[in-house]
This record gives sequence, structure tokens and C-alpha cells, in this order.
Amino acid sequence: MTYTSFHPTPRTLMGPGPSDVHPRVLAAMAQPTIGHLDPEFIGVMDDIKSLLRYAFQTKNALTVPLSAPGSAGMEAAFCNLLEPGDKVIVCINGVFGMRQAENVRRMGGELVTVEDDWGTQVDPEKLRAALKANPDTKVVSFVHAETSTGVCSDVATLCGIAQEAGALTIVDSVTALGGIELAVDDWGADVVYSGTQKCLSCPPGISLITFSEAAAEQVKSRNTAVQSWFLDLSLLMAYWEGDGARSYHHTAPVNAMYGLHEALLMLHEEGLENAWQRHRSQHASLVNGLEGIGLEFVVDAAYRLPQLNVVQSPDGVSEADIRKQLLAEFNLEIGAGLGVFAGKVWRIGLMGYAARSENVQLCVSGLRHCLA
Ligand SMILES: *Cc1c(COP(=O)(O)O)cnc(C)c1O
Repeated sequence: MTYTSFHPTPRTLMGPGPSDVHPRVLAAMAQPTIGHLDPEFIGVMDDIKSLLRYAFQTKNALTVPLSAPGSAGMEAAFCNLLEPGDKVIVCINGVFGMRQAENVRRMGGELVTVEDDWGTQVDPEKLRAALKANPDTKVVSFVHAETSTGVCSDVATLCGIAQEAGALTIVDSVTALGGIELAVDDWGADVVYSGTQKCLSCPPGISLITFSEAAAEQVKSRNTAVQSWFLDLSLLMAYWEGDGARSYHHTAPVNAMYGLHEALLMLHEEGLENAWQRHRSQHASLVNGLEGIGLEFVVDAAYRLPQLNVVQSPDGVSEADIRKQLLAEFNLEIGAGLGVFAGKVWRIGLMGYAARSENVQLCVSGLRHCLA
């Protein structure tokens, strides 16, 4: 048996993630590895924390990356806020809401679910009613940008309702950050987590998380230890927040952090509003192109995500065969449907560096060719 180096065929990534990585991010990651407690690396960590506050639009001191993918951000949010027996309302309108519910179950929380149909928003009135019926609710959670359905929910309204009822909020913004508006402080969200591989033009592998003062207080006043040693915020803090000298917690993925640093720097250079506008305008031209070849969008335009487009696959067409052909002939990856949408739709991502004109043109002409 002989082995050779692996050289992937360059693809255009327009699925639900990972999305196209910017060449500047890849170049940043190829720089020499230095020690994770090297003063130069600590400088990079400090930049990352402050650039993250810009990206999340927050002043929260507790705003850090976690050395594991977006799912670890989800787990960190729940395991730090919850103690066994705590009541949690999870609003479910797709796969990632279901995963939030699974986190609550596994952590011994008392789960109440509020369900909405796939392809629709979380209904604020249902949350209001659930809180009325469950006044002892400690935490409300929901997904801002449901990647499984392409739906954007109203974070400000949902957080306002939770806050009125005295509950903390956990918001999944993995697919939102950098692609659509996210204003953690103005919207009163308590714990918000995200990831690198969706709208930040960065490879997968890192999660980003922010805790409000109220959420941080909650963590400090726990009666029981956080069940996860690795994701226990109070331990991570000594690593990320220590003044000058940091204490060893785990070895940060140094080169991945170079990549995150470059990606956040690029978002800062572009400006949040411009990044959101770019996603909106590329979405508009994708809609134009795909409707022009007779395809239909599934989600109502009023709450459709510009960065994740759910498109009906036409009758009599195997959606999987078309995806295979796009990959083989155009090196273009788009996503399949999940759950109730499996076999019926494509999920076309316009996330981060993937949200640009040449990608839209490639996708439209590729689909036109394969469907002809
Ligand atoms: C992708 C995604 C996650 C999980 O992120 P990973 O990096 O795949 O672990 C969680 N929530 C939402 C809404 C996502 O789109």
C-alpha cells in the first residue's frame, strides 16, 4: 500500500456549511504555529475577543471563541446555564431547535417545547402562552437562523417576551452572524452562540459565544458544578480573561485562531452593515436567476434568510442526482433537504465569501444546465 498527500479538488461551497473560505483566511492559517501562551498569541486572543464583540454587537465581557465547532457552543450555552431540574422552554421550528431540546433532556432539565411548522417562524404568541402556563421557566431558547429551513425568527421580540417573564434566553445564531443583523445588546439576548463556517468565510471547527451579565451571574451562582469540564465557563475564563498572564486550560488550536482572527478582521474592514447588504443583494440576484429558470422558493419572503435559500426541486427530478451532477461537472456543492424537506428541496447557501456574483451565476447556470 502506498499513500500520497491529499489534494482536494477546489469546490465552490454553496450548501448549508461549510461555505467558501476566503483566501486571506487560508493564508493566515498557513503561518508558523507559535506557543498558545506566547505573548504574540495572547495579543491575537485579545484582538479576537474585541472583534467578536463588534461582530455580536455587544459589550459583554464574557465573549470568547471555544475550541470546537458550533455544536459545542450550543452545548456550552445549555450546560453552563442549566442545573438539573431547571425548566426550559425550547421553541422548535427545525433541526437545530430539536437539538437544543436534546441538550436540555441530556442535562436533566425539565423540557417544555413550543413547536411551529418547518418553514415558518417561531410564533411569539405561542412563547407568551407557554411562559404564562410555566411561570417557573428559567431559560427560553430558540434558533435565530434555522439552517434546516431557511427561516429567520424575530430575536428581539422573543427575547423581550422572555425577559418580561424573568427568563434568560439562549439564541442559536450560528448561521446568522455576519450574514444578517444580530444586535445582542439591543435585543437583550443573554447567551448567543455562533460558528466560523457559515457567514464568516472561515473553515469549520470553532464556536463563538457571548454571555450577558445576567447569564454570567447565573453561572457564578450555580449550586452544582458544570457537568462538562471542557466547556465550564468559569475554568475557560482563566484562560481567556486572565490579565496578562494566562493559565493553561487546553491548547488552543493556534492556526485555526489565526484564521478566525483574519476572518473577523475582514468583517470589520467590510463593516457589518455592508456584509448584511452584500448577502441581501446576492440573495436578490439568486432569486431573480432561479425564478427565471422556473424554480420556486419555499419560505415566505417576509422571513426568508438571504444566506440560506430553500428551493423546491421540480417534480419528476431526482434532487440527489442533480446535486451529484453539479458537483461532478461544476465542482459546485449545494445542500439537500433535511427532515420533512428531505428529497424535496435544495438548500443553497450564500454565506460569507460564497455570497458573491460569480457564485450566483455559477449556481444559476449550473442548475439550468442540469435541469435541461
Ligand atoms: C451549522 C449549525 C450548527 C452546528 O454547527 P457545527 O459547526 O456544525 O457544529 C448549529 N446551529 C445551526 C443553526 C447551524 O446552522
